[in-house]
Amino acid sequence: MYPSEFEYFAPQTVAEAIALLARYGDDAKVLAGGQSLVPMMKLRIASPRYLIDINRIEGLSDLRRDGDRLVIGALCRHADVGASALVREVLPIMTDAAGLTADIQVRNRGTVAGSIAHADPAGDWPAVLAALDTDVTIAATSGVRTVPLSAFIVDGYTTQLEPGEIVTGLSVGIPPAHAGGAYVKFEKRAGDFAVASVAVQIALDGTTLRSVAISLGAVGPAAIRATAAEQVLQGREASESLLMDGERLVREAAQPFADTRGSVEYKRHLAGVLFRRAFAGALDRANGREISTIHM
Ligand SMILES: Cc1cc2nc3c(=O)[nH]c(=O)nc-3n(C[C@H](O)[C@H](O)[C@H](O)COP(=O)(O)OP(=O)(O)OC[C@H]3O[C@@H](n4cnc5c(N)ncnc54)[C@H](O)[C@@H]3O)c2cc1C
Repeated sequence: MYPSEFEYFAPQTVAEAIALLARYGDDAKVLAGGQSLVPMMKLRIASPRYLIDINRIEGLSDLRRDGDRLVIGALCRHADVGASALVREVLPIMTDAAGLTADIQVRNRGTVAGSIAHADPAGDWPAVLAALDTDVTIAATSGVRTVPLSAFIVDGYTTQLEPGEIVTGLSVGIPPAHAGGAYVKFEKRAGDFAVASVAVQIALDGTTLRSVAISLGAVGPAAIRATAAEQVLQGREASESLLMDGERLVREAAQPFADTRGSVEYKRHLAGVLFRRAFAGALDRANGREISTIHM
């Protein structure tokens, strides 16, 4: 199908983009990689009257370290993150996410910030970045504000973004030494959205789990933090019985719905299995062992 008619703008600066967004309000949409928006426009799920293409704006493709934070500009593509030696070094869980998102074509165009703005409950970035200390930077004609990701995504496909606002970038806390994370995704076909996915980020104090963050993707209306499992694991040493408790609490935290990808029981079980694999990967990395992305 063809999209409805729309007027196209290609601003050169953030100021121009937000002026256009302020002028057209609800009738305007930002176009980043177009990998979610364009299919939705073709299906007429989305019919913006004004399309504000941000791809010509300079300075939005950042992927750099700023002190103890990783800065990711709004035009940073999945493939940029996947190819980054810096990301592999400081946050290899994000290398996992970049390599497991969609296929090469989509990864070359789609942006990390676009995935967050789109807030697909089965999206890889919402699941991974929810396990990390992630902030979202938002610009509007009224100024710039920064909100934690946990507040930014309010529900599936729903964020705090108001008409007239644009995400200019993300920033992610770089974990201290003896920390590690891993993201594991189960998909029915290569390049597909997750049936279920789990991100685990831990920090160690000797052999004690100093901090544990567990985020579940595709098993709820939005990414879910498995807080009860996190609390049980924190301050303890990893053991088989502790991890069995963690796995049970992860399964209980999942709120999947049945669809063509699987039943509620199947997805719940899968979340537990993926948790165990992601935890093992996170522990390896926290102990300084280099492991490549875990493929299921
Ligand atoms: C075949 C296929 C397979 C896919 N598989 C996966 C997968 O396995 N996992 C996965 O997570 N995703 C998958 N995707 C989605 C893909 O990752 C998209 O790139 C991503 O969801 C959106 O990023 P984008 O830059 O393309 O955003 P766009 O499509 O340009 O925009 C998406 C939405 O976000 C808004 N938006 C984008 N950027 C901004 C911004 N800076 N400020 C404000 N609003 C903004 C747009 O207005 C729009 O509403 C797939 C897509 C396709 C076509």
